Amino acid sequence: MTDLTDLGVAAIRDGVREGAFSAREVADAFIAAVDKAKGLNAFIVETPDHAIAAAEEADRERQHGNLRPLSGVPLGIKDLFATKGIQTTAASGILEGFEPAYESTVSGKLFAAGAGMLGKLNMDQFAMGSSNETSAFGNVFSPWRRNDGGNAALTPGGSSGGSAAAVAARIAPGVTGTDTGGSIRQPAAFVGITGVKPTYGRCSRYGMVAFASSLDQAGPMARDVRDCAIMLEAMSGFDPKDSTSLDLPVPKWEANLSSDIRGRRIGIPKEYRIDGVPAEIDAVWEQGIAWMRDAGAEIVEVSLPHTRYALPTYYIIAPAEASSNLARYDGVRYGQRRAPENGSLDAMYEATRAAGFGPEVKRRIMIGTYVLSAGFYDAYFNQAQKVRALIARDFERVWAECDLLLTPTTPSAAFGLGEKMDDPLAMYLNDVFAVPASLAGLPAMSVPAGLDAQGLPLGLQLIGKALDEQSVLNAGLAFEERAGFTARPEAWW
Ligand code: GLN
Repeated sequence: MTDLTDLGVAAIRDGVREGAFSAREVADAFIAAVDKAKGLNAFIVETPDHAIAAAEEADRERQHGNLRPLSGVPLGIKDLFATKGIQTTAASGILEGFEPAYESTVSGKLFAAGAGMLGKLNMDQFAMGSSNETSAFGNVFSPWRRNDGGNAALTPGGSSGGSAAAVAARIAPGVTGTDTGGSIRQPAAFVGITGVKPTYGRCSRYGMVAFASSLDQAGPMARDVRDCAIMLEAMSGFDPKDSTSLDLPVPKWEANLSSDIRGRRIGIPKEYRIDGVPAEIDAVWEQGIAWMRDAGAEIVEVSLPHTRYALPTYYIIAPAEASSNLARYDGVRYGQRRAPENGSLDAMYEATRAAGFGPEVKRRIMIGTYVLSAGFYDAYFNQAQKVRALIARDFERVWAECDLLLTPTTPSAAFGLGEKMDDPLAMYLNDVFAVPASLAGLPAMSVPAGLDAQGLPLGLQLIGKALDEQSVLNAGLAFEERAGFTARPEAWW
């Protein structure tokens, strides 16, 4: 009997359909795996009852021959998505105990497609971070260890660190992530899984705790490209409750998957070759280029001249939007309240926010408030908006020369817990290859490419034209077939 936790989304869906096993057996297997993996701290809340109820429903549907696209598939949901009646915290103390009265559109769509929920996944607080260490519920441990004999604990990346760890450790076949400036792609690369950030507006932001509204996008993280395509189809679609939602039909990404990329032009942007990046990253990039050429793609050197301004631009715009979005946590409407006795309203705001927000969130609020303040608005926020337009224009121009871009996902493999927490700029550097596509709103995906000398996964990034997720997925599939990445962490948890 196969271990059911070895199966991904497509295999579970198909097996339930064919009667190879019941959905209930699948749910039980993953619930047991989640229980055994508590040491990873991947979940903030476990919801086995939800997964079981959905599985029993799927087994009834099978008898009646009316299975839905994700019937019988148990998923993990990042704690940034509001789940009706189930604690939703965005990993912040300020929302501890908050039980939304409504369901986010994305989680609601996944449940309507038949999926069950194993639990709410740990993450960086308000999705601010690259290591999952800013969570108020403790860091997540990467399931991976270096092969040097030492047992140094590694970060799974962030902000979707619980999501990444859960898929890599085989305690969830697929999960939701969110990506504002790399939070799906960077953790996917760090743990050797696949993660897709679709075009801005594909997935509704309704019920997704807001970080930087002009950048936030939901997306799937799973074991491979097909699993991501299946999940993305279920998660996407127009939502009148989100004014930036795209009013377009959802393409049949899975049905149109094809690894035939002969004649596609893949651009290699020269500005992504930056100093200080380990030789291993360059080597894996060269290998990826060779695989794409082998698949029949035409490789072209291209230039995106404003790339080096992307990181500083992101770290002005994202905190600015965050400072405004986070103004709503005032102790009145959501979650925690600290009210000093006989204190004023202001004193309550101050005490609540001082106690509820973590240090990184406070840093972002201060930066954001500063760049939006009367004397500095023009010098910082306005300027950043202009540079953002130039970065987007770079991409528009480059599509005359190529159909897709191939770059590294991150400038290094996973780093150790605690290594960068005292140096925010070093932490922010993680996002250097991820933020340009975020600023331009483009679809981008990280695919596992291989292991470094220490046995840790490395990922490469494919970036596509707006709304062209299909080309990104197809190139990802061609890549996956050649990379043949099957490495998985040895269970120590
Ligand atoms: N690491 C980036 C940040 O801290 C991106 C986070 C994200 O995409 N949510 O802002």
